[in-house]
Amino acid sequence: MPLHDSRFRSRPSRGGAHPVRVSLEFFPPKTPAMEETLWAAIKRLEPLRPAFVSVTYGAGGSTRERTHATVRRIVEETALRPAAHLTCVSATKAEVDDVIRAYAQAGVNHIVALRGDPAGGIGARYEPHPEGYASTPDLIAGIRRIGDFEVSVSAYPEKHPESADLDVDIAVLRQKVEAGATRAITQFFFDNDVYFRYLDKVRAAGIDIPIVPGILPVQNFRQTAAFAARTGASVPAWLARRFDGLDEDAETRRLIAAAVAAEQVFDLVDRGVTDIHFYTMNRADLVYAVCHLLGLRPQADEARVAAA
Ligand code: FAD
Repeated sequence: MPLHDSRFRSRPSRGGAHPVRVSLEFFPPKTPAMEETLWAAIKRLEPLRPAFVSVTYGAGGSTRERTHATVRRIVEETALRPAAHLTCVSATKAEVDDVIRAYAQAGVNHIVALRGDPAGGIGARYEPHPEGYASTPDLIAGIRRIGDFEVSVSAYPEKHPESADLDVDIAVLRQKVEAGATRAITQFFFDNDVYFRYLDKVRAAGIDIPIVPGILPVQNFRQTAAFAARTGASVPAWLARRFDGLDEDAETRRLIAAAVAAEQVFDLVDRGVTDIHFYTMNRADLVYAVCHLLGLRPQADEARVAAA
């Protein structure tokens, strides 16, 4: 085991050092079966009262209707506060503005503003739509012109795949803050030292909005590794070793995944983090278990927990 591995330097945590706020990310379902899975997850996690739940926007705006329908259903059928992701790819300003106005009318006051991946896919050159928002800061300014929205944005502790270096990314983050972003949510990462080094650089650059760590519980190691390769997130060798030989053993994989996510989150909390964003992949069980370990309880059980 490498000595520099931060997870083994930290003392074993029991959590509960300070209250932790969680937020949850879902993606809009493609089929009725996926819709059922999503809603089972939302209903299971709702009583934990996350700070907000966000719903992603498909590449190139491909889920425009489904994202909107999911967000609207969250407003109508739950007590959750939804945040709608929105990108500028392949759309005119007028089209994007219509989406923003529709959210305002539906009572949604939080948007996760993103540029989005190039229409040609990750790795292709990004070309703004000639009549569209050219960049994320431009989109944020548009959102602010339309309504009084809370605006969250992305942040990349291991730099964005298109970026020459982290300094460029941090300069872009600063532009997003200057345009009105009030929170950044990071790309997922597995080595907490990467996050804290990034946080130091961001603070040194004078950016003071919350940089909320995005945590991806490993539902499926192979898929996670493939996804990480596309997004520029590194997968430490120790993580691969933990799932080694478990391809045919879903039950053990799930237990390991909960242990790995809990360990990562406890280390973050021990080191001062107060807000955690979970990439749920529309599955409740791992996230629910980690939230439970963090001390979150269904609202109805609060009195019992306080008395214990
Ligand atoms: P930005 O942060 O605006 O820019 C990304 C990078 O491009 C910069 O870091 C920089 O390297 C370069 N760049 C941008 N502007 C300039 C400039 N003026 N000069 C030089 N370099 C520049 N994608 C979706 O399609 N739908 C989603 O719902 C979605 N949700 C996401 C949520 C989170 C929390 C994260 C981290 C990512 C999400 N993504 C989503 C992925 C995101 O769309 C892609 O990573 C996309 O390639 C960049 O969008 P962005 O808003 O992160 O870009």
